[in-house]
Amino acid sequence: MGDLFCYKLCYQRMSNEKVKVLIIGSGPAGYTAAIYAARAGLKPVLYTGGQPGGQLTTTNDVENFPGYPEGINGTSMMMDLQKQAERFGTSIHFGLATSVDFSGYPLKVTVDEKKVIEAESVIVATGATAKYLGLPSEQHFYNKGVSACAVCDGYFYRGKEVAVVGAGDSAAEEATYLANLCTKVHLFVRRSEMRASKIMQQRVLNTANIEVHWNTETEEILGDEHGVNAVRIVNNKTGEKKEIALQGFFLAIGHQPNTEIFKGVLNMDEAGYVIVQPGTTKTNIEGVFAVGDVADKTYRQAITAAGTGCMGALDAEKFITAKEMELVH
Ligand code: NDP
Repeated sequence: MGDLFCYKLCYQRMSNEKVKVLIIGSGPAGYTAAIYAARAGLKPVLYTGGQPGGQLTTTNDVENFPGYPEGINGTSMMMDLQKQAERFGTSIHFGLATSVDFSGYPLKVTVDEKKVIEAESVIVATGATAKYLGLPSEQHFYNKGVSACAVCDGYFYRGKEVAVVGAGDSAAEEATYLANLCTKVHLFVRRSEMRASKIMQQRVLNTANIEVHWNTETEEILGDEHGVNAVRIVNNKTGEKKEIALQGFFLAIGHQPNTEIFKGVLNMDEAGYVIVQPGTTKTNIEGVFAVGDVADKTYRQAITAAGTGCMGALDAEKFITAKEMELVH
């Protein structure tokens, strides 16, 4: 009995799971890819990653995803997407892809450092993570005044005073976006110049209700049980400190694409975003497709991620069909 048990266990450990479509990541891109691949009869297997549901589970209400006239809580929306993917036969597992071997075919992905999955196609939907300053107060007031997405959360601050941290194109774009909704936007720039493109800088400087604070770092975000009500900043040239009363604090200091395990394997730009062939989700490796924020540093919206998730499933389906035809002939 013991031997039989060991045999079964050892055999299970030794034999790799084989799948047609493996989806890595469970944001809107991953789940949309799963819905399409499942409905195409490809029995996709999806590994959620460390944050099931992705970035939307860290936001409040999503009001800009078409089809929800009253808006929807980010976590509820992701649970609905999960149910929809499961309804058509997606097999969903909690687990983290820890390494890949795309040197041969089938493609190999190791999950949780032990389980090897052999896949005919892989859809990479691992997303990106917003960078934070690392202040404890930032975590404390997360979603209670602190946000890393002006397009997602800006609407909740209409008629209020807010701040944006950063000096790149994102910060410039978020500041001008918020200036249309808010009474005043403070832009905290840590150096005496901005990195953003000239045209975006001009837009910032020409907007009457944006005040740029040069050489300025955030020391503390202040608030109470209702959320953020002020911020303490320090001028890193003079050491002068100041408190500004405001209700919203937006981070725009860049995103980090979650591509660590694909380094040296998938072609990426200098920031680590996966490069896809224009108009497709194809990467430099045959059968591997990249969808959602992991390959998009420009739009980064749930709806664009879902759109490319759909494209990834269709690209994978076409690829698998072509491979099967090759085998027949
Ligand atoms: P970037 O990396 O370009 O800029 C990040 C900014 O955040 C920098 O100005 C940096 O300051 C600042 N920063 C970083 N860490 C801190 C910190 N701890 N405290 C204060 N400030 C900090 O990121 P973006 O998200 O702005 O842009 C990413 C890419 O996406 C870029 O290529 C950009 O051009 C592109 N993009 C294009 C858009 C468009 O064309 N419409 C819109 C948005 C992004 P410092 O300059 O001192 O290093």
